[in-house]
Amino acid sequence: MSPSHQLPKNYDIEEVERRWQSTWRDEDNYFNPDSPKPRFIIDTPPPYPTGNFHIGNALNWCYIDFIARYKRMRGFNVMFPQGWDCHGLPTEVKVEETYGITKNDVPREKFREMCRDLTIGNIEKMRTTMRRLGFSTDWSHEYITMLPEYYKKTQASFLQMLKAGDIYQSEHPVNFCTRCETAIAFAEVNYVPRTTTLNYFDFDGIEIATTRPELLAACVAVAVHPDDERYRGMKGRRLAVPIFEHEVPVIEDVAVDPGFGSGAVMICTFGDKTDVYWWKQHHLELRKAIDRQGVMTAAAGPYAGMSSEACRKAILHDMEEAGILKRQEELEQRVGTCWRCKTPIEILSERQWFVRVHRDDILDAAKKISWTPEHMFSRMENWANSMEWDWCISRQRIFATPIPVWFCTTCGEVVLPAEADLPIDPTVDKPRVPCPRCGGSDFIGEKDVLDTWMDSSISVLHVTGWDGSGKPPLFPAQIRPQGHDIIRTWAFYTILRAKALVGGHPWDEILVNGMVLGEDGFKMSKSRSNIIAPEEIVGQYGADALRQWGAGGAAIGSDIMFNWNDVVAASRFQTKLWNIFRFVMGHLETVTGEPAPVTELIDRWLLVRLSETVAEVTAAMEGYQFDRALKAIREFAWNTLADDYVEIVKGRLYADDSSRASACSALRTTMDVLCRLLAPIIPHFAEECYHNLAARSVHTETWPDFAYADDEARRHGDLLVKTVAELRRYKHDKGMALNAPLGHVMIYASEPVDDAGDAGRALAADARWSAGTPRLEEVVSGVNFNMAIIGPTLRKQARGFMEAVQALGPELLKNPPATVTVDGEEIPVPSGSFTPKVAYRVAGEEVDVLTLGDVIVTIGHSS
Ligand SMILES: [Zn+2]
Ligand SMILES: [Zn+2]
Repeated sequence: MSPSHQLPKNYDIEEVERRWQSTWRDEDNYFNPDSPKPRFIIDTPPPYPTGNFHIGNALNWCYIDFIARYKRMRGFNVMFPQGWDCHGLPTEVKVEETYGITKNDVPREKFREMCRDLTIGNIEKMRTTMRRLGFSTDWSHEYITMLPEYYKKTQASFLQMLKAGDIYQSEHPVNFCTRCETAIAFAEVNYVPRTTTLNYFDFDGIEIATTRPELLAACVAVAVHPDDERYRGMKGRRLAVPIFEHEVPVIEDVAVDPGFGSGAVMICTFGDKTDVYWWKQHHLELRKAIDRQGVMTAAAGPYAGMSSEACRKAILHDMEEAGILKRQEELEQRVGTCWRCKTPIEILSERQWFVRVHRDDILDAAKKISWTPEHMFSRMENWANSMEWDWCISRQRIFATPIPVWFCTTCGEVVLPAEADLPIDPTVDKPRVPCPRCGGSDFIGEKDVLDTWMDSSISVLHVTGWDGSGKPPLFPAQIRPQGHDIIRTWAFYTILRAKALVGGHPWDEILVNGMVLGEDGFKMSKSRSNIIAPEEIVGQYGADALRQWGAGGAAIGSDIMFNWNDVVAASRFQTKLWNIFRFVMGHLETVTGEPAPVTELIDRWLLVRLSETVAEVTAAMEGYQFDRALKAIREFAWNTLADDYVEIVKGRLYADDSSRASACSALRTTMDVLCRLLAPIIPHFAEECYHNLAARSVHTETWPDFAYADDEARRHGDLLVKTVAELRRYKHDKGMALNAPLGHVMIYASEPVDDAGDAGRALAADARWSAGTPRLEEVVSGVNFNMAIIGPTLRKQARGFMEAVQALGPELLKNPPATVTVDGEEIPVPSGSFTPKVAYRVAGEEVDVLTLGDVIVTIGHSS
């Protein structure tokens, strides 16, 4: 225990936090594979290494760290790994921007190298921020998806699912970004509102309205509703497509909206998802008018080689020339755009690789997982039920896990590597054996690469020890913490992959957190300049204050609005706690030998309250209700300990009394337990206090299992606290200093209370408790006049009236007579013109009386 004079008056956040961060050892947070303790494996999110660990990440990691630290204290063998989900478009786009190139300007390997270098630097920046926030990460379980030891597992998972028939290649319409020149999954399409032009034109005698005239070359049919009288008998007729002159059939389909435009629509391959639906339903032909770069193909005849935008203008111009463009109007619509570059997506039919989505299996597995908050499960369910086609996993990019297949140039056979040879890059490596079908030895490596979710959706297999086949030794993980924004991607794909590869659900529980909004209530974005960086908060108020903000901001799953006031309040709470701690340490250092038993009323009461707080905080932590846990701790420390207990016990602590030791023992226990309750949320502060108190790390201690029941102490202590608070208010109202002597105080309660003299010391009074009721004598000591009545009613007689009233005896003051004599004249007593002043006496001493519920307090005036 450190002498209190060594404790600085001010808590220097920066110094304390930095000191502990350089003292703590990474090894203390390592998962121990040989431990007999129950394991608790956290399938933590591998963030995308942007170089910027933003406040949304910070909130997510605060939650994870609270859980990891809490579970360690509860005796679990915790794995808190840290992954980095490296591959993907954002890094490629960043490299393209930084070097002013496109991916095709440099050799593939060179481009990958540029991406890897950028990623390594970004990971280092983010690690620094994470360490500054005090997360108890298990750095021995760090994984980086772009490194061979990880992506060989991604490749192995691909091969297994391919062999099992869960992965296939097919020519099928997919969402395609022509800027990024790659297919993307539905989950990566954002729908945004925009205003566009709806063009009405004559289509071989039928009026058609379209927003995409450039797709005219890709028109394969005209559809009408079967009940639309205007088009009766048209079904099966063939119409000539304006400008292009190829003929297309008229078909009927109930999905056509007769109320839109003229009720006839042209079907193109492909304008939108509905076109894909009709194309499949009616077995229509495929006409590709737009290529992967967004350029018009030969199918577009004279428009070939134009961008789709230029083609649109040219076709509208030509329609006008031909006199078939009838009118144009504005239309509000929602258009799908690339999540990364915001380019409107095209739907292109291409050979792609797909993962089969077994919806019912995924939902069955999802139902076996416990979802917190519960309602987040329905987001998963809605998404699963809205998926219209399988998961497209091939990307026409470079910085990603290569798809490990070759094609035989002789017979077209798909040739696979042996799993032992992974990882491979089929564009560089060659198969070790000839083509198993034709014996040929000339191969083309697959150039397409995998969707980055193919890497991250096996994170749980990786951390549970998957070696590329079979069931991982530590599978399933205990919990998956993640944001609600990636339920339809990361959660969905992980469940899908775990089910396909291992046959089970990936985690026992999933904990879904909300997003952080700016102080203005909007999503943080550069354009709103409402971004707050974690470093900014930590620089001013420290990691623990940010962590308190994270814990207290909102219930888990709800979005949190960032608020500087919360951070300031968090920092003030630490100042308050530090002051309490210094005060307590000043008293504890005078105690030597074994701790004394806790005997006195208010000390036992404190332990009862502490015990209730432990129960509340434990229940909250078990349910991941960090806001509830922090609230209970703050209320206890601030109200119960500082405001109520310390104010009452102070006198005894300074007194040379044997009962002082009881208070010191209660305080020692309280500080010990409080530090441990605080350890998961504010680890630096808890460590600083605990080290001074116990000369050990609080982070190797167990969670407090502190139960203390004492009904009498609870009841009597509550009475004492309430009484002292009331009498302090009484002093204040009387304009007395709080330490001014209060005289003789009797507290009449229904039971005998032994407060060890604490009330008296706290109030500077001769305070005694009595189990009886006071023998109060009510005496009339004077009269109060109501001049607002007397003045206007009696005017000149007022003075005489008041003299006459003052001369009345106590009985008449209480029960006024109808008249009094003023200057020999009987005048009526106006109603409400005076009331008697009543005083109380006990055993002849005049007293003030306070009533607190069924407790009566008398305060004697003679001291
Ligand atoms: Zn894009
Ligand atoms: Zn072959």
